[in-house]
Amino acid sequence: MSELHKFLFEGLPVRGMLVRLTDAWREVLARREPGQEYPPELRDLIGEMSAAAVLMQANIKFNGALVLQVFGDGPVKLAVAESQPDLSFRATAKCVGAVEPGATLEAMVNLRGQGRCAITLDPKDKFPGQQPYQGVVPLHGDQREPLQKMSEVLEHYMLQSEQLDTKLVLAANGEVAAGLLIQRLPVEGEGNLEGRRGAGPSPAEPAPLAGQAGLPAWGQRSSNEDDIGLSDAFNRISILAGTLTAEELLTLDADTVLRRLFWEETVTRFEPLTGTAAPRFACTCSRERVGQMLLGLGREEADSVLAERGEIEVGCDFCGRHYRFDAVDVGALFTPGSDQPGGHSPTLQ
Ligand SMILES: [Zn+2]
Repeated sequence: MSELHKFLFEGLPVRGMLVRLTDAWREVLARREPGQEYPPELRDLIGEMSAAAVLMQANIKFNGALVLQVFGDGPVKLAVAESQPDLSFRATAKCVGAVEPGATLEAMVNLRGQGRCAITLDPKDKFPGQQPYQGVVPLHGDQREPLQKMSEVLEHYMLQSEQLDTKLVLAANGEVAAGLLIQRLPVEGEGNLEGRRGAGPSPAEPAPLAGQAGLPAWGQRSSNEDDIGLSDAFNRISILAGTLTAEELLTLDADTVLRRLFWEETVTRFEPLTGTAAPRFACTCSRERVGQMLLGLGREEADSVLAERGEIEVGCDFCGRHYRFDAVDVGALFTPGSDQPGGHSPTLQ
């Protein structure tokens, strides 16, 4: 069963999370159409992104979708993992070329150095005109060296966009997708942070991720962080976390992983999210949404597909569901005021 564990390091400004997606991850893979299975290297990348999306969502508790996307310039054009506030998630990828055995992140999505990773926070209850918050990072490091691990890309993002010192270990295979996240917490007291949050972000920059999510926003480094001892704590724990191998992360249970890594630390564990509270696969697609998409395409385009094929069939890349619209469905869809997906209330016509 899939599970998520949260923990704190007693007396230290460091917290952590460990996720293991098992049945939920296998469900993602089982949803692929026969013959459309991912090459192992791409499968593992999507698995790592799924684990990361769940960890990041659980970490910030954002009231909306957290979408992790890699836009590739190699054989893989797109890889997506999306997680909802209830920690349900879905993932997919678009691959247009051959992924060679043993292909690295660079070979798959950053062949010409143009690959990008986007993290989008799409609020559930948007006010009119509100745009989702999006941060984009390249797939190379500060010295322009191509990054070979998804975890490094996301660590960069967290540091650059959110100024959160984060250590991530991610791994996936055909059975398990798992991740460990270690993050430094603000040193200051809650009261100070509340005060700072009240001041709000400057208008020139988007609201920081952490602030939006109800966590303290800490755009500037705390002046209290010259407390070297506390700073060292994160470094020590993140180095310990970095010794975790992919093999260990994929095969050992959470208790064993945490005991082996942090046996010298005092770790406070929280009730794990398992069973019905565990991260699970779920797709947010619906006939209504597909209808909205067709409306966006326009009547002319829809009619031309109908004329050619007799019906419009739209498949969901995430869950494999197929939606069919015949001439009657399309007619209703484009008729204002009819009982259609996204239909307008007659009083508004
Ligand atoms: Zn779907």
